[in-house]
Amino acid sequence: MTKRITILGSTGSIGQSALEVVRRYPNALSIAGLAAHSNIDLLLKQIDEFKPDWVAVSDPHAAHQLSESISIPRLFVGPEGLEELASQQVDVVLCGIVGAAGLPSILSAIENKNRVALANKEPMVMAGNLIMDAARHHNVEVLPVDSEHNAIFQCLQGHNIDDVHKIHLTASGGPFYRSSREVLKNVTPEEAGNHPTWDMGAKISIDSATLMNKGLEIIEAMWLFDLPLEKINVVIHPQSIIHSLVEFTDGSILAHLGVTNMTLPIQFALTWPNRVKSPMARLDLTTMPEITFAAPDFSQFPCLAMAMEAARTGGTAGAILNAANETAVAAFRDHTIPFLGIEETVKSVMKTSTFEPVDTLEGVLEADREARQMAKDVIRSRSMA
Ligand code: MG
Repeated sequence: MTKRITILGSTGSIGQSALEVVRRYPNALSIAGLAAHSNIDLLLKQIDEFKPDWVAVSDPHAAHQLSESISIPRLFVGPEGLEELASQQVDVVLCGIVGAAGLPSILSAIENKNRVALANKEPMVMAGNLIMDAARHHNVEVLPVDSEHNAIFQCLQGHNIDDVHKIHLTASGGPFYRSSREVLKNVTPEEAGNHPTWDMGAKISIDSATLMNKGLEIIEAMWLFDLPLEKINVVIHPQSIIHSLVEFTDGSILAHLGVTNMTLPIQFALTWPNRVKSPMARLDLTTMPEITFAAPDFSQFPCLAMAMEAARTGGTAGAILNAANETAVAAFRDHTIPFLGIEETVKSVMKTSTFEPVDTLEGVLEADREARQMAKDVIRSRSMA
């Protein structure tokens, strides 16, 4: 039986890796739907190769361009188009859209009983309770693709979550693990985007440099595995060979090791509960570097501490943290604010925000909009100072 897959964000880093996995197994996996934002040139190539039944393009101008160049059985347009595509019946919807933009389509997939493979963590940080409540209500699995969470998911196979003492999320530490705060002041977007062990999209590379990525991953893990903050630990592991660990109540620790290639977790999520043979380069145990661990330095990377505080606060704190961070990262990439301006912006927005419970999608999207505006105001007043 061929599994039919829809990929949201097919032209991004995760999307392209997912298509590489689908390309490996033409008899087991096929593409039912593809969604992209505006990269029409690449999307056209993907349509030509994978022949999807449905395509969604969230940027209306780009959708128009696409419809002029090719005829597609069904083309869904605009942000609502993503939701429509996600609602079409398939075996797995893989969500690889960067940032908050992916949230409505994830809920749409779940409400239409589509299993979700979740690669983008922002929706979970914003509205993990809404996503997991919907998943329970519709009896749908949400499978983690984020490498750490996929590692934990693999370590948990055949185990009971009640037997977990702690999970240990590994962090490479990013490109500035050993840099002084003085050096961090002058970091450029190009330097921050250059991750030492993983080849990833631009936004997540910056998040890895501030360690905000690990903070968002803590919140993601709390929702995915239904664990309290106290049971989640972050450990710096610069070699990125162990992708995370689960420590059980009896003291046993299981770890997941592998090469740093996103096709590995993507493949496990797409083929789960089965494993299939991979042509990928393997980890060579006898030639790999020495494995080391260290505790994170919260004073060097306050974004990690702010994310933990948001996790403790709950409600819209996650959405507000995420919105402020997305806005600040975009401003840093535009050279509008310096690297340390990211943490300053997030700190300022978190300090002046009030937090509410997350009850509805509309409510959380409103909190997201307000926090983005607040972050823009902080950035504007900062650049005028
Ligand atoms: Mg990760």
